[in-house]
Amino acid sequence: MSQKQQTAELEKVFEMIDQQWEDEITFLKEIVSHKSTLGNEAGVQHHIKSFLDGMGLNTTAFEPDPEKISHYRNFGKTKWSYDGRPVIAGEWKTDGEKIGKSLILQGHIDVVSAEPEELWDYPPYDPIEVDGKLYGRGMCDMKSGVTAMIFAVKAIKEVGLNLGADVQIHTVLEEECTGNGALALLDRGFVADGAIIPEPFGLKWMKSQVGVLWMKVKVNGSGAHVERADKAQNPINKAVRLVQALENYQAHVNAQPKHPDYADHPHPLNVNVGMIHSGDWPSNVPSECTFDVRIGFDPRREPEEVQSEVRDWLMEAAQEDSWLREVPPEISFYGFAAPGSTMAEDSELVRTLAAAHENTFGEPIEHMSMTGTTDMRAFHEFNIPATCYGPSGANMHAPNEYVELDTVRDVTKSIAAFILDWCKERK
Ligand SMILES: [Zn+2]
Repeated sequence: MSQKQQTAELEKVFEMIDQQWEDEITFLKEIVSHKSTLGNEAGVQHHIKSFLDGMGLNTTAFEPDPEKISHYRNFGKTKWSYDGRPVIAGEWKTDGEKIGKSLILQGHIDVVSAEPEELWDYPPYDPIEVDGKLYGRGMCDMKSGVTAMIFAVKAIKEVGLNLGADVQIHTVLEEECTGNGALALLDRGFVADGAIIPEPFGLKWMKSQVGVLWMKVKVNGSGAHVERADKAQNPINKAVRLVQALENYQAHVNAQPKHPDYADHPHPLNVNVGMIHSGDWPSNVPSECTFDVRIGFDPRREPEEVQSEVRDWLMEAAQEDSWLREVPPEISFYGFAAPGSTMAEDSELVRTLAAAHENTFGEPIEHMSMTGTTDMRAFHEFNIPATCYGPSGANMHAPNEYVELDTVRDVTKSIAAFILDWCKERK
């Protein structure tokens, strides 16, 4: 039988969270109003940094240096610059000898594009609350989680409690494409005994995540005026064959024995063609066609192994076409080369989180496994136990993304309960 066990200190922290709830919503709306897509993260990062400064944390901001972190297993190759794109750390140093465990609360502030915006019923960057749901791009994934973790720490500070170990708040970029933001902070020495990432997984802790790759395929044709199109080789038509081959690949990998954490999942490994570009005129045969693909893979496999498997699969499909046999597709990998990652159920971090959840809500915590990737893997590369645990919402990466506001308050409380138990209170 589960029951709530709240100390007087925790009760005070919960009261403070209730008292600051309007401020918490205001902060969440403010950070969602920043359109922090790839390359545009500076505004929201500076806002968060000043807020953390205002809380009395020691803050640091710096731009990731890809050369410095390229040797990590979880590094993602990029072609773009990091100028003017800082990651942020805010540290609350313990006052005296360490008596608990140190903690990182980490969240990403990068969002995917809200296009096509005309499909939204509410403006993506001007949050509106309707029936307890707050709408906006990044609302669910994961600015509400970022808000909850910051306000959990803020409430503990304002109640006047002293923690027995350091707490850090990290806000990072490129969770949606490389994971390099998380790596940059860890590489710079911002490490701890454990980490929680409040990704919006409905107050469940995340056990496993799949591996993810990004791939670019360039198909060359031989361009011509359309009247000679029968003599030309149209790269769009050729690309379609390769896209079809990828659909067969997806069916093939999902027909293999499943990782135990996905045993009940009907389709854990998604292969998605997310971009395709070719041509600029209906009456021309274009000279090339490129498409970009996201490939999910079993957490037990290595990214390099899957890269060669997909490459071989496409090259074999190319053999079946007389043109592609002569002019094979150019295949390259960039962005995510992310291995899968799994968190042990009996780890102290998970047990402490389970207890905090249960003491806050009177119900046992559940877990889930994700068919995408998160920054959890970067922490695991640094041997830091980490999992995701955050609010509920829907329509991530889609129109009308929202978070259920009640769950933001809930998670603020259970994260606060977790902090007190993990870091311990200095009396
Ligand atoms: Zn996310």
